[in-house]
Amino acid sequence: MIFKQEIVNLLDRMAVQYELYEHQPIKTVAESQDLGLPHQEWATKNFFLRDKKKKHYFIITTQENKSVDLRTIRQILGTSALSFASDEDLGNMLGVVSGAVSPFGALNDESQKVKVYIDRLFEGHLMDAHPNDNGATMFLPAEDVIRVLRESGRTADYIDLPGEEEEEDGEGEAETETEIETDTASRSKILVSQCLFGGDPVRYDGQSKTLKDPLFLKWKSEGRLVPVCPEVFGGLSVPRPDAQIVGERVINREGTDVTDAYRKGAQEAVRLAKEYQVAFAVMKEKSPSCGSNEIYDGTFSGNRIAGQGLAVKLLREAGVKVFSEEQLEEAAKLL
Ligand code: SF4
Repeated sequence: MIFKQEIVNLLDRMAVQYELYEHQPIKTVAESQDLGLPHQEWATKNFFLRDKKKKHYFIITTQENKSVDLRTIRQILGTSALSFASDEDLGNMLGVVSGAVSPFGALNDESQKVKVYIDRLFEGHLMDAHPNDNGATMFLPAEDVIRVLRESGRTADYIDLPGEEEEEDGEGEAETETEIETDTASRSKILVSQCLFGGDPVRYDGQSKTLKDPLFLKWKSEGRLVPVCPEVFGGLSVPRPDAQIVGERVINREGTDVTDAYRKGAQEAVRLAKEYQVAFAVMKEKSPSCGSNEIYDGTFSGNRIAGQGLAVKLLREAGVKVFSEEQLEEAAKLL
């Protein structure tokens, strides 16, 4: 289980900017409002929910004053009936007590049953979160909360939640729900190589290859992109020796067989593609993991051959269409 200090250490390691406030333990939204913390417009409340058969658990984070009903969340997530998880589940799965729930609780869920969904209202903004301790509150970008969870192997994303506070013209809930449903349905997800997505460098040489193509940036701003670095997800470090495919194996420049790590990361890419039901994937060309048309020939001499990386191979075998960063227009036809 990880708590405040470990979360602080994790954020520091990932170079996440945050503000941390220590205070007396609180249990309710009203108590948190009395603390006089800054950024109250980005204060949250969190629901820890489960489905009927207790197979799926969710942490739903929305704005403190927003009214959202469980039926609406259930419809958006496409689950069976939802109810609040018990205090026992809170302790066993998240390691926290009532009043301390936040997306960081999912870091303690070793079974990885818990999925985190943060109201899209927070996209591009700060949000508050207890660091698994209701005696402290952090403020940090919602983007970073999602990134920390994903890079820790958890499932985290935004969710479009209709709520009563958005109904300023009094035209009723039905119209709001219809708009949200249409918007959600049209926002297909796209799996992308993390080095194209940007953020923390993940390439073997400690660099990124952040893609600035306008179409890619548009997809990014729409919240469609699901970044994955198969090599990092497979347990390899940054930086690391570069590797190439030699026959059926992946061998790095030092002669070490790294096939197992590459395969593990490739399987994680497939898991994410299925999880998000992606429309397609855009993967970095020439990589022994992500190359989709061309890879290096295994001699470390700079020669390229037609071929595909290990993650792309597994993605295609799983039925996912894969394009390179040079084929965005072609890929866009599938949306
Ligand atoms: S494995 Fe893929 S995502 Fe990771 S650095 Fe290589 S090309 Fe980029």
